[in-house]
Amino acid sequence: MLIPAFPRLLLWALLLLSFLPAAGQTLKVTLLGTGAPIPNIERFGPSILVEAGPAKLLFDCGRGASQRLWQLKIPLGTVNTVFFTHLHSDHVVGFADLWLTGWLPGVYGRRAAPLRLFGPVGTRAMAAALKQAYAWDLNVRTEQGPPPAGATVAATDIAQGVVYEQDGVKVTAFDVQHGEHLKPAFGYRIDYAGRAVVLSGDTGFSDNLIRFAQGADVVVHEVAAARPELLRTSETARQILSYHTQPEDAGRVFSHIKPRLAVYSHIVLLTTDPAIPPPAIQELLPRTRSSYAGPLEIGEDLMTIEISQEVTVRRFGPPSR
Ligand SMILES: [Zn+2]
Repeated sequence: MLIPAFPRLLLWALLLLSFLPAAGQTLKVTLLGTGAPIPNIERFGPSILVEAGPAKLLFDCGRGASQRLWQLKIPLGTVNTVFFTHLHSDHVVGFADLWLTGWLPGVYGRRAAPLRLFGPVGTRAMAAALKQAYAWDLNVRTEQGPPPAGATVAATDIAQGVVYEQDGVKVTAFDVQHGEHLKPAFGYRIDYAGRAVVLSGDTGFSDNLIRFAQGADVVVHEVAAARPELLRTSETARQILSYHTQPEDAGRVFSHIKPRLAVYSHIVLLTTDPAIPPPAIQELLPRTRSSYAGPLEIGEDLMTIEISQEVTVRRFGPPSR
């Protein structure tokens, strides 16, 4: 059938529009915790919330993730999907809190459907063991009335590949380099409405991350640094840095990907010797600049990054240390 020229143009325009992200289809990233194992009041344990359409996806659930969510007045019960990058305790230690507190009938909780959990081999076993560990609480509270479905964890052990696809949101897990003894460890790529954010998880320099991050708008990457005198004297410090990324290497990663914005989270300022203080956070920027000249933010707890036509960064309060 022959379509007259004007309607044909209109059809093309509509087709083109359907491929562009509609207004309001923003991919929003909130750094709930930008710290590492150190029990720092200003940098809580690793946890990143990604909001894409109606989905609220949580990546890692470190210490204090639930407090940070409620600081934003996000009921814990509305976060119904969690992804673990790996099973190091600093990345998962807040999970039981999110799971159980999010099930309570208070306005901060009220989860009524199962909490989905994805992670490397061992995740299912951990969920089963937690259920046993908290059996007393689960039994007592179920008798008091909260819907039992909300206390269910539907856990899946995953491998590299697409692990979640729903309502236009696609989550892809990819292997990263967190050391020979720390396998598997994943980074994640989240695609939504033509935008993409990549989260590194814990890793040293990773070619596979660079491969999976091609075309990503924002890359949130871990970083670790120590004073040279500590690295000279401490085998433990050298070992820890060998499976994390120093600023110069992170800069190389960003230079390969060329994102619209690179962000540091999971910031490790190493201190293993009481006589040697950790490096200053101010050192991260110049050290990264030796290999990367593009846009870069040092992440802070509750920093949000909105990705649409623009990439907008907002801080929650005054810069933290
Ligand atoms: Zn780790």
